[in-house]
Amino acid sequence: MSDKPTIKFRVAVLGANKNRVSKVLSILQDRPPIIDLENEPIQRNIEVEYIPCIASFGGYKNEDDEVVKYLAKLTAFDVSDVKQESSLQTFFDEGSKMEEMPNGNITIPGIAAFAVGIGIDTDNDLHKIESYVNMMSGNSVTQKDEDEKETVLQNVIKCIEPNSEYASMSEENAAFKVLSDEEKEQAIQNASIGPGKMAKFTQQVARECIPESKRAKAERIRKEQEAKEKEQQELEATETKQEPSESLFKEYNVETTRYACKMCRTILFNNEEFEDPPHSQSQHTFSYRKVKGGNVNTSIGEKCQCHFLKDALNWMGKEIHECHEGKLSCPKCDGKLGLYKWHGTQCSCGTWVVPAIMIHKSRVDEIAPESERNTMAMLSPLERLRLANAGVGL
Ligand SMILES: [Zn+2]
Ligand SMILES: [Zn+2]
Repeated sequence: MSDKPTIKFRVAVLGANKNRVSKVLSILQDRPPIIDLENEPIQRNIEVEYIPCIASFGGYKNEDDEVVKYLAKLTAFDVSDVKQESSLQTFFDEGSKMEEMPNGNITIPGIAAFAVGIGIDTDNDLHKIESYVNMMSGNSVTQKDEDEKETVLQNVIKCIEPNSEYASMSEENAAFKVLSDEEKEQAIQNASIGPGKMAKFTQQVARECIPESKRAKAERIRKEQEAKEKEQQELEATETKQEPSESLFKEYNVETTRYACKMCRTILFNNEEFEDPPHSQSQHTFSYRKVKGGNVNTSIGEKCQCHFLKDALNWMGKEIHECHEGKLSCPKCDGKLGLYKWHGTQCSCGTWVVPAIMIHKSRVDEIAPESERNTMAMLSPLERLRLANAGVGL
C-alpha cells in the first residue's frame, strides 16, 4: 500500500447555503472513494480534500429600478463552525503548476475544481463564478503560455444540472423538500436527487481532475501512435490489394508466346488465352492488306489488329464480371489495352466476335518462346532483323 503513488487535490463544493453545503460534505465522507484512471499501470490512491465554499451575491438597483446581481465573494468555511470563513486566496497563492514526484506522487496546488450547485443554478451565476475564479488564479494570463499549458492547471468549474423531469435545479430541489424523511434518506442513498446527487456530482467533477501519470501518458501516446500506424498499414494493405499484385498474374510457361504491356513490360497473357477456336476472318473484307508471312503463333491474319481472349483474367478486375462492357487497361501502369463487350464486337477484319475480350496488338509486345529466342540470339544481326521484319517476335 505504502509504495502506491498518491494523487492529492482539492475540490470546492460551492453553493449559496452553508447548511446545505455542509450536508453534502457529510454525505461525501460516506461515499465510496474515487478510483484511479483505468489506463494507469499502477492504480494510485486518490485523495481528494473537499473544500466547503460559499458564494455571496450582492445586488443593487440600476437606474431602471432593476436589481443587478453580482458575486461579492467566494469564501471557504468551516463545517464545524460555519461562522469561520477564510479567503480562497491562500489556495490560489499556491500557484498552478502541477509536478509529478519521482515516486509518482502528484499534488495539485490550489483548488483543482469547483462543483457548483446548492442554490446556484443559473448560467449567469456560473459565469460570474468562472470569471471570479479565473481572475483569482490568473488563468487568463497563463493560458497564453503554450509551453506551460501542459503542466499548468486549468480549473474545472462545473454546475450541477437538473434531472430530465425538472426544468431547473430549483424545481428539482423543491421536489426534494416535499419528500418524506424516509424518501429523502432513500434519495441520498441513490444519489438521485437532493444533496446525495450533489455529492455524487462533486465526485464526478473530481474524477475529471485526476491527471495521468507520466508513464501512463507515455503509454497512451505510444498506443495511440501504434493504433494510427496499424490503421495506416491496413489502409495501405487494402490499397495494394486493389493495386496489381503478383497473384493477379498467371505464371505462363516460357515456352509459349507471351504478351506484355508495351509500356511497363508486365506479362499479361499468352497465346493459350486466345479465343478458341479463333474467329475466321470475314470474307468480304473492306480494307484488304497484304498478309505478311511467317506469323508462327496465330492463325489470325494481319488484318485482325486485335487479340481476342477466351475469358476474363484476374488482372482485368472484378468489374469485368459485373458490367456488360468496359475498357481494359494495364493494372500496373494503367496504359490502355483494349476493351471487353460480353455481347460481342466487330474485329477489324469485319467478323463479329462474341464474347469480345479484345486487346489491341499495338498495345502489347509479343515475347517469343524462350527456345526460339535463344535461337534468335545465335543468329546474325542481319538475319535477326530479317526475321523481325517477317513478324517473328523478339
Ligand atoms: Zn503496363
Ligand atoms: Zn478478325
